[in-house]
Amino acid sequence: MLRTERILQKLRETGHRITPQRIAILRILAESRGHPSVEDIYEKVKVNFPTTSLATVYKTISVIKELGEVLELEFSKEQNRYDGKNPSPHPHLICVKCREIIDPKLSSLEPLTQELTANTGYRILSHRLDFYGLCPKCQQNP
Ligand code: ZN
Ligand code: MN
Repeated sequence: MLRTERILQKLRETGHRITPQRIAILRILAESRGHPSVEDIYEKVKVNFPTTSLATVYKTISVIKELGEVLELEFSKEQNRYDGKNPSPHPHLICVKCREIIDPKLSSLEPLTQELTANTGYRILSHRLDFYGLCPKCQQNP
């Protein structure tokens, strides 16, 4: 099932209101590879729905977050970013200059998780793994 459809279905099942603006927000979240911020999403929604408020975008994201259908990447000094394509915890690659965030193709984290469990006795529930660096574009334009 398409990501947007899946999130829509969950919203319906939990009795949330579906509006054209909400669908537009879902679609941007579910289709974007770039880990947009609330502001980024707001700017995009406004193209087709000029009356959308920033509060609507915040509210919609918080509802989808409660449903576990978006991964929030929290940053203390800048805007949070969102991954609606893949809501399960996964590693990210972050450019410290242009703030591009991508999903690196990594072989499984499974061995690492098993090692942690074996060494500490923890039952691992989630993780946050960010790699910081300069993207190829920013390396060429210092
Ligand atoms: Zn960059
Ligand atoms: Mn991601």
